[in-house]
Amino acid sequence: MSKIIAIANQKGGVGKTTTSVNLGACLATLGRRVLLVDIDPQGNTTSGVGINKADVESCIYDVLVNDIHPQEAMADTKIPGLKIIPATIQLAGAEIELVPTISREVRLKKALHLLKDEFDYILIDCPPSLGLLTINSLTAADSVIIPIQCEYYALEGLSQLLNTVRLVQKHLNTTLQIEGVLLTMLDARTNLGIQVIEEVKKYFQQKVYQTIIPRNVRLSEAPSHGQAIITYDPKSKGAEVYLELAKEVITYEQAAR
Ligand code: ADP
Ligand code: MG
Repeated sequence: MSKIIAIANQKGGVGKTTTSVNLGACLATLGRRVLLVDIDPQGNTTSGVGINKADVESCIYDVLVNDIHPQEAMADTKIPGLKIIPATIQLAGAEIELVPTISREVRLKKALHLLKDEFDYILIDCPPSLGLLTINSLTAADSVIIPIQCEYYALEGLSQLLNTVRLVQKHLNTTLQIEGVLLTMLDARTNLGIQVIEEVKKYFQQKVYQTIIPRNVRLSEAPSHGQAIITYDPKSKGAEVYLELAKEVITYEQAAR
């Protein structure tokens, strides 16, 4: 059975896509079968693994709205063991087009269920909103990873996200859990980062990953080369920390079994 993890935070620019691509690539490098599901109309995960969006014939939109089999929308990446269901800008319409449809919140869940034996991990990169696409992701997921940027007001807006998680738990997915909280873009040169770490740990306690992602220029360069950090610059700090995170994710899952 796949473990399905949504990577969610309605704030933009907190590291959702960077984490989806690089955690996915590192889990695959560690021998796991991984599927990335890009459900953000911006399609940054799609281009981040080297797929030219103009060449995409079927994407997650067709799975959600046109009921095609997810296998038909799936594409390989250059990393062995890592596949993707891409997103294109077409997906921007889905949020509205799904509104009048039957069981609109469970469409992704039903689609991913068809793939449940094919992957060890399915990672869903959510858009920066709490709309129907994020609801579909939280409904389909076993758990959610929340990336939080180490900056002023890091916790601002989180109550809305946690409230959405609670509503999904109550009405759509009673077993949804918080997988972990990931601190991202730490600038080790400032005291602010340390304060944010303390604040977030006080709030989420043992849910916070020990691995903290620092700011690393190589991480921000890799997407424009259509590569995950592990192939773009395997010796970089960014590659080292995302590999550490992948090991932490695997360890928690083994402990939970
Ligand atoms: P989100 O998906 O939450 O909007 P992204 O992952 O796209 O956030 O990150 C926002 C921007 O910050 C991107 O340009 C990305 O390359 C950059 N970025 C993300 N994480 C890091 C990091 N650890 N160090 C440096 N730049 C980063
Ligand atoms: Mg993103």
